[in-house]
Amino acid sequence: MRQKTDKFDVIVIGAGPAGLMASIAAAENEAKVLVLDKGDRPGRKLAISGGGRCNVTNAMATEELIRHIPGNGRFLYSALSEFSNQDIISFFKKLGIPLKEEDHGRMFPVNNRAQSVVQALLQELNRLEITLKLNTPVDRVLYEDRITGVRTQTGEIIHAPSVIIAVGGKSVPQTGSTGDGYRWAQDAGHTITDLYPTEVPLTSSDSLIVSKELQGLSLRDATVTLLSPKGKKIQSHRWDLIFTHFGLSGPAILRLSQFVVKALRKYNTATVTVLIDALPDRTLDEVSADLLKRTESAGKKELGSIWKGIVPERYLRCLMNRADVSPTLTVSQLSKEKVRSVAEGLKAFPVRINGTLPIEKAFITGGGVSLKEIHPKTMASRIMPGLYFCGEILDIHGYTGGYNITAAFTTGHAAGTAAGLYAGGQRN
Ligand SMILES: Cc1cc2nc3c(=O)[nH]c(=O)nc-3n(C[C@H](O)[C@H](O)[C@H](O)COP(=O)(O)OP(=O)(O)OC[C@H]3O[C@@H](n4cnc5c(N)ncnc54)[C@H](O)[C@@H]3O)c2cc1C
Repeated sequence: MRQKTDKFDVIVIGAGPAGLMASIAAAENEAKVLVLDKGDRPGRKLAISGGGRCNVTNAMATEELIRHIPGNGRFLYSALSEFSNQDIISFFKKLGIPLKEEDHGRMFPVNNRAQSVVQALLQELNRLEITLKLNTPVDRVLYEDRITGVRTQTGEIIHAPSVIIAVGGKSVPQTGSTGDGYRWAQDAGHTITDLYPTEVPLTSSDSLIVSKELQGLSLRDATVTLLSPKGKKIQSHRWDLIFTHFGLSGPAILRLSQFVVKALRKYNTATVTVLIDALPDRTLDEVSADLLKRTESAGKKELGSIWKGIVPERYLRCLMNRADVSPTLTVSQLSKEKVRSVAEGLKAFPVRINGTLPIEKAFITGGGVSLKEIHPKTMASRIMPGLYFCGEILDIHGYTGGYNITAAFTTGHAAGTAAGLYAGGQRN
């Protein structure tokens, strides 16, 4: 049964960081705003970001910020010039949530409480008299030759001259983002580019992984390099990695993952190779020389103890094993070739990657609403008057580290401001 409700200028679908920021920006531009979310907890994904402390943004300069958003970061120049990472930091400070900078420019609330970030946004909604309706899944966005409103799953029709779609991607659907917005965008005539998992752990069926011999082992500050089938370097990242029961994970691997997905598709191949360099500050010759030097005054000590401490012991033993060098060998039993072979393992240990965990387990969804059809300053649809998009539903994706949330806040701010102004124009 269709019901009549209050009149709104702007309907925002989705109460994630993009939608919440969009609603605030629209209300600041005098719009009467309604936010609809299918779940009972707004900002659910935001609250689990950054290991549960909420990685609100990243402090890097704009150029660097954009470099860390390899999925169409350049599209954000215009929106960032209006509402930048520094504006996000000031915004939260004003709301009583000062942020602090940690490694790699990552910004967290000083109190380390993700929920306080969400609460601050909700209080702002309250202050601006924005209506927030939870447990209200939207079923369709309604169009004629322009936006007319939305229909909820219960059949309720709510009219408004502008609608902002901020329902996120398809990753971690238990947080509410189940990819509903792509269908609505297509209904309006928009193109959805290929969707794929990004910032996602990699899988491997190499014996080393299947045997679980390194499961749980972390390498700090290692470099991982993806090779093309012809052995050409495609991309490298340096940070921590972890061996898991299915393959590789950790921040260096997550950063590499989108390039792995693209390489597997581009070369139509079942596996690609990732090389692990556990000692990226030293050359192969230097590592070899260091291993040899340590043996010089070692007398009858076993190699396992001479080389201890270079890398985690389990990793060293695995590499020695692969180079056919028993840890119980003594120096007199060792050839230079064998030393070189262990050094090669330390510098370029190959793992064959056969895929990634599914998109539902990825941190971010790659692909989305094609940016060719979106105005970069306003996030307005170039196809449907009154329609706006923001956040992860757009074909924009960054590395984890606050870049996606920055993109969500920035595009949310642009969409909300423009939708508020547009609705004001429709009123007059
Ligand atoms: C575990 C984890 C850690 C992360 N860590 C980081 C990090 O450190 N740095 C970083 O930059 N990014 C991180 N991200 C990604 C970041 O959280 C997202 O990119 C960001 O939340 C996207 O914001 P959004 O507003 O576009 O969508 P979302 O946050 O996904 O919000 C979408 C909202 O829309 C609602 N919705 C969906 N469908 C409907 C419907 N039909 N009707 C009504 N409502 C609907 C959902 O309930 C949800 O509340 C992380 C993600 C995960 C899963």
